[in-house]
Amino acid sequence: MASSDNHPDFDAVVVGAGFAGLGMLRRLREEHGMSVQVYETGAGVGGTWYWNRYPGARCDSESYIYCFSFSQELLQDWNWSGKYPEQPEILSYLNHVADRFDLRRNIQFNTRVTSARFREDINLWEVQTDQNNRVTSQFLITGIGCISSGNVPSIKGLDSFEGEWYHTGRWPHEKVEFSGKRVAVIGTGSSGIQSIPVIARQAEHLTVFQRTPQYTIPARHDTVDRKFLEDVVKPNYDEIFEQARWSTGGFPVNRDERSALQVTAAERLEAYEAGWAEGGIRFLSTSFKDIGTDRRANDTMAEFIRKKIREIVADPETTEKLMPTDHPFGSKRPLIDTDYFATYNQENVELVDIRHSPIQEITPDGIRTEDQQFQFDMIVFATGFDAMTGTYLRMDIRGRNDLSLQDKWSEGPKTYLGLQTAEFPNLFMITGPGSPSVLSNMPVSIEQHIDWIAGLLQYVREHDIKSVEAHVDAEAAWVSHVNEVAEPTMYMLADSWYLGANIPGKPRVFMPYVGGVGTYREKCNEIADNGYEGFILA
Ligand code: NAP
Repeated sequence: MASSDNHPDFDAVVVGAGFAGLGMLRRLREEHGMSVQVYETGAGVGGTWYWNRYPGARCDSESYIYCFSFSQELLQDWNWSGKYPEQPEILSYLNHVADRFDLRRNIQFNTRVTSARFREDINLWEVQTDQNNRVTSQFLITGIGCISSGNVPSIKGLDSFEGEWYHTGRWPHEKVEFSGKRVAVIGTGSSGIQSIPVIARQAEHLTVFQRTPQYTIPARHDTVDRKFLEDVVKPNYDEIFEQARWSTGGFPVNRDERSALQVTAAERLEAYEAGWAEGGIRFLSTSFKDIGTDRRANDTMAEFIRKKIREIVADPETTEKLMPTDHPFGSKRPLIDTDYFATYNQENVELVDIRHSPIQEITPDGIRTEDQQFQFDMIVFATGFDAMTGTYLRMDIRGRNDLSLQDKWSEGPKTYLGLQTAEFPNLFMITGPGSPSVLSNMPVSIEQHIDWIAGLLQYVREHDIKSVEAHVDAEAAWVSHVNEVAEPTMYMLADSWYLGANIPGKPRVFMPYVGGVGTYREKCNEIADNGYEGFILA
């Protein structure tokens, strides 16, 4: 039941119980004494890590920095076992956080928010769920993640397929058996390149359908280095997080301030070989400063990776198919893998280039491309997500004058700082489009938003403010700035989900903020220090 006057049922409704939702709930309830209701579609906490249980699912951030920093006790007590945390371990961590801070009592699971309407008459949000909840709250805060709406491409005949099929982002909780089966994987993004080697070890035969060849770096995954954790990380966690907060990508690393073009070829090779040997995201995040902005600099790194692919893959025809040449390195989400390229040396693994021979249809017993009919017992769609905006637009969110977010964002998302969108008062987005979010180590960006939103809500309460709304001019200026900083980068030179290019009909707009985590934090702080410049506080 909704409250009948302007006394809300809750101070805040939070959508989602992943990193963002859990952190926001704890912060508002424990530090600001607010009443909070969280709605979560899943049956448990975890968000992206609840759903993405596909084989090989693992995070690309090193575990020691892929966590909350708000509690020193939590940082000291939790012990990661993997250098790169695997999905079950991250899920255990988030369950531990939920238990340790007694968060579950404010979370309603198995509940999808279907609509949210700003009631101008009472200055409250009215939120409706698929479980027949209808509640009001002063603030509506989304912690719905950036890659939470799975994209299963509409391929003719999928309904007729008689085998099993799965999307990596909605992987079953029950064990999926690959042994003795002929398996197809469609897609070679992060989810594909993580799951392909694992599936290949079990399946009788694996066929990978690749549209765009990828650059990927070996993760050099290992168990966590205990000595490093105990001697270097734990005693210095404050400094480590502080460095990450002011860095470009939310990692405690320093970029090489040299240009790739100013050093000699031998020095460049030495740097790339060292990065390749160390592996992981550091290969990119500590590399030369102009890899992301200068095509010639980028080419040196791209060619280095192509050379590595030629060295690893035995069959010349497969090597050719795997060669990424149509986009710069890092213009799509950088990938890190374990044995990805080497997997194509297995006898039971085959690569199909669907750029040259597109999939025509799915048949009851397999997949038919322009050139060939394949038989499968299982199809795995590693085909990604309607990223950054998909989950927002699937909810019917309405602001002033019944304006729907679908209409407001019909030409692409428009936000101020990725935190608010004009005409939707008191709606806050954690890692919304227009913030660094997916270009960064997510927990660091999420915590920055949580801190900033909590600071603003505190200010609102202290000053008896009823509504906060991004000014349309501030929003327009921010959208231009987001585009302006993206324009000279390599990101504009690939058909990536950052640009919405993976979803037919989606406006081609670069959605995240490429200016860097530290720069963004500085801007957010400045705006707050200037009395929340660009926001209408009514
Ligand atoms: P993705 O990066 O969007 O990759 C999807 C793959 O499917 C691409 O190879 C794409 O080809 C292909 N594809 C899409 N539609 C297709 C179609 N209609 N026909 C044939 N192929 C199609 O998705 P993802 O791998 O799930 O990863 C999404 C994001 O989630 C990542 O970029 C990352 O941010 C996050 N993630 C992170 C991790 C990690 O931390 N390790 C793991 C998984 C996911 P094109 O390239 O040609 O579009």
